[in-house]
Amino acid sequence: MKTIKGIAVAPGIAIARAFVLEQFRQRVPHHRVAPEERAGELERFEQALEAATNDLAADRDRAASDLGKEAAKIFEFHLGLLQDPTLLGPIREKIGEKGANADFAVASSFSRIIDQFNSMGSQVFRDKSRDILDLERRVLDHLMGRSQERLSRLNEPVVLIAHELTPTQAASMAIDHVVGIATDAGGRTDHTSIIAAAIGIPVVVGCHAITEQVNDGDLLILDGRGGQIIIDPDEQTLASFNEARDRMAQFESETAQEASADAVTLDGTNITLLGNIEFPREIEQLKKYGGEGVGLYRTEFIYLTNDTEPTEDELFTQYTNAIEMLEGRPLTIRTLDLGADKHTQQQALEPERNPFLGLRSIRHSLQHLPMFRRQLRAILRASVHGPLKVMFPLITTVTELKQARMVLDDVAEDLRQEGVEVPRDIPIGMMIEVPSAALMASTFAKEVDFFSIGTNDLIQYTVAVDRSNERVANLYSASNPAVIRLVKNVIRAAKRRGVDTSLCGEIAGDITYTMLLIGLGLRSLSLVPSQIPRVKQLIRRVTLEECERLARRVGAFESQRRILRVLRLETARVLPEADGGWNAG
Ligand code: PEP
Ligand code: MG
Repeated sequence: MKTIKGIAVAPGIAIARAFVLEQFRQRVPHHRVAPEERAGELERFEQALEAATNDLAADRDRAASDLGKEAAKIFEFHLGLLQDPTLLGPIREKIGEKGANADFAVASSFSRIIDQFNSMGSQVFRDKSRDILDLERRVLDHLMGRSQERLSRLNEPVVLIAHELTPTQAASMAIDHVVGIATDAGGRTDHTSIIAAAIGIPVVVGCHAITEQVNDGDLLILDGRGGQIIIDPDEQTLASFNEARDRMAQFESETAQEASADAVTLDGTNITLLGNIEFPREIEQLKKYGGEGVGLYRTEFIYLTNDTEPTEDELFTQYTNAIEMLEGRPLTIRTLDLGADKHTQQQALEPERNPFLGLRSIRHSLQHLPMFRRQLRAILRASVHGPLKVMFPLITTVTELKQARMVLDDVAEDLRQEGVEVPRDIPIGMMIEVPSAALMASTFAKEVDFFSIGTNDLIQYTVAVDRSNERVANLYSASNPAVIRLVKNVIRAAKRRGVDTSLCGEIAGDITYTMLLIGLGLRSLSLVPSQIPRVKQLIRRVTLEECERLARRVGAFESQRRILRVLRLETARVLPEADGGWNAG
């Protein structure tokens, strides 16, 4: 029995066998091959090479017939490389003479060439290095087996173990038999974690080297409350976690029964609980859990899960579907928030050095106007079908906000000229996700109808900690007094100017923070739909006065640890049966 600690992302307990997702470059096994087995290992390599060459030739022929001879030429370069003695010679030598396993020999030799190409400084060579990466993948595919294929063939529950998942992979992970996820890398609120949490299964990230310590088929307990994975548990541990899992399931089903109850404090203050969604299909869950509308629709995910940009009509259909499924409940559409970890940096011509400080979010939209305008056209066309609000992400300056509004107004005018009806009273809002916006909230409040505080990003920009970096995750916390002060400033400024404010960062779904947020003055929260019943249950057990007292008390503390400790104690006092804390930040 062995325990690995990580970062808790989504609560719950999963007990199942491990499925280790092989990942290229991050996890190529390295071991020595005994002299008498080297010939066989070389043969394995030759077969993989031949299979990859055959795949490529087939792709070349298909491209030639679909797109013409010119398009097929790119494959000739690839095919040439797969016969190049300067590449193959060292691989054969590593296997045959040095006793390396074939997978490792391939990965290390390709790495060397990729590094050489990358260091040449010319874009042409950097582009070529991506081609070589693709070639490596093709050969390794044949050597290591296709884990994605194996995954889709599974028919028993598994805990998925991976080095790192992209948001897109996580989005396609909604497979019945994946009952838990644990990764080496990642942070509590990076977008992969958010998507994984939305599936409603326990998730632990930032486990450093779990992929090296777990083997396919190991029995695992994944505890999403405290963020730990137990490998090969003994009988007693297994029994106690089975019992805890049953207890939690019972608690969840009891709270779910209260889904239709009002989210109102003991002394009669109503709190609006909205849902965060990435795809319209999540609206069914939202309604089941008693959500009163959508406070954050992360519209970029449809772009991330498709190879090509969706058309205006496809977007229009998605948005209209969402509105119809909501049956009159409000839909807050956030415009594209591409970039940082929600971008295909791999696809970018020149990957950014600091993507979280780079061309992300509204900045990306303002530099890709045709794409931005297509999205806005779809939103405005859909807006006649039900109550809809538009929200701009990551606004940092007033000029940026005005530019975004100008594009929106311009698109609306175009549509009207085309004879399309566009309401004139669509509420326009912005996310408060960077300290500059939080500090200047009273200025921004003159320009918008509503704010939504995005603590996931606000924390990372306030304390200068990449939200997806497990190495500095201990510094990333909503309990940081600076973060609390900024949130307070926004709420106060908005109140003074009569601007509605909600909060849609992950802490909105973490009961540890519910009393504090209400005490600071928030009356609307937007959260992962499955977390709504739990938050609602807590709200129904407290008074406004209690919450305000708690906010005043922690407002005087200087230490993050002390704040978190008091918040946890208060939460446990009010809702002891919630069985173990889980903290989103
Ligand atoms: C946030 O930053 O808090 C937020 C809700 O946006 P996202 O998590 O999509 O960056
Ligand atoms: Mg954000």
